[in-house]
Amino acid sequence: VPAPMLVEAARQAIAAGEPEAARERAEAIAASLLQPVINATGVLLHTNLGRAPLGVHQEARYSSLEIDLTTGKRGSRGTHFARMFSLACGAESAVVVNNGASAVLLALSALAGAAARREVVVSRGELVEIGGGFRIPEVLAASGAKLVEVGTTNRTRLSDYEKVIGPDVALVLKVHQSNYRLVGFSESVPVSELAGLGMPVVFDIGSGLLDANAPWLSSGPPAWLADEPAARQALAEGASIVTFSTDKLFGGPQAGVIAGRGDLVAACGRHPLYRALRPGRLVLSALQETLLAYLRRDGASIPFWSMAATPVSELSRRARELAVGEVVECESVAGGGSLPGLGIPSAGVALAGDLTAGLRRRKVPIVARVHEGRTLADLRTVDPADDAELAAGLCDVIGETLPGTGHIR
Ligand SMILES: *Cc1c(COP(=O)(O)O)cnc(C)c1O
Repeated sequence: VPAPMLVEAARQAIAAGEPEAARERAEAIAASLLQPVINATGVLLHTNLGRAPLGVHQEARYSSLEIDLTTGKRGSRGTHFARMFSLACGAESAVVVNNGASAVLLALSALAGAAARREVVVSRGELVEIGGGFRIPEVLAASGAKLVEVGTTNRTRLSDYEKVIGPDVALVLKVHQSNYRLVGFSESVPVSELAGLGMPVVFDIGSGLLDANAPWLSSGPPAWLADEPAARQALAEGASIVTFSTDKLFGGPQAGVIAGRGDLVAACGRHPLYRALRPGRLVLSALQETLLAYLRRDGASIPFWSMAATPVSELSRRARELAVGEVVECESVAGGGSLPGLGIPSAGVALAGDLTAGLRRRKVPIVARVHEGRTLADLRTVDPADDAELAAGLCDVIGETLPGTGHIR
């Protein structure tokens, strides 16, 4: 921790009349810095832990960000991403922005926004809040487009859309209800039918699953992916544009993608907001690494997919090798607002009491969860390279625990 931050901690401790607390304050500052952590929660895309696990290694060098190395002329940071996304999900073209929220905002602004203030038709069942302030009606308002709601909370039919289609309508927006499910007496219109309305259909699929067949996994798509919309299939079924995040099921850095019909994507790229929303080269390099892995069909080198696809037997074997706590079967979840209510069979170790505070205080902090009075370390979200560190951490916190109380000394 640099001196000015330590001095500030000391001054604040003195001002508070407790100079002996200076060390504790300095430690709190150190803990507030971004640092790698071991995720033993079993939540694969933990928004508080940066969603998808990611390793990028870059040297201090210039980059070919906007130069065409063949001609020596100025290039575009976007062209090769458009090509790679075409191959990866069948889109004619694509642009990359900062996150999923920017992708939706830019698509709506460019295709229906302020200049035109045209109508965007959305089912009342899809006027969702994704969390952290992303609410479809508010994003629509911010884009300058005019919201036209159709249907009801639980049921929307094609005829509801047909009634409002007219010359003022710019597009139909379909939003995946990422983080909740409507069950029972419910009905929504699939993208293949919306495509027949003769309007561009923008489908916010959310989590960035590129292809429902998961050709990058030798074991094929896991059962728990079942109902998650995928970019390739949504476009093939008639979506003009899909928008998605790249740090959810895509398994890359935080970015957002608008992919689909060439003319519509080009309109997004020309909009003044694009300049404000485009990512820098650190993010683009990490995104490129992930995309290249998809194109090589090498899911094993994408940490999220490698963790998601690990067989339970392998996790149980690792749990036994930790040689601490009781080996248990448990359930991981996708997280990141994807696949609510769906458990992914997993294994880990359980220890008596709540040991989570001590685990978080370690040099390499370990984030675990408490289930029915026991601390559970789910191995699905732990990189095997961290198993030894996890075992050491668990042993240490058991040692620190006052017998019988579950409290850290
Ligand atoms: C996650 C999500 C978003 C927001 O994406 P961010 O990358 O978090 O900005 C938007 N729409 C849907 C359907 C989502 O699932």
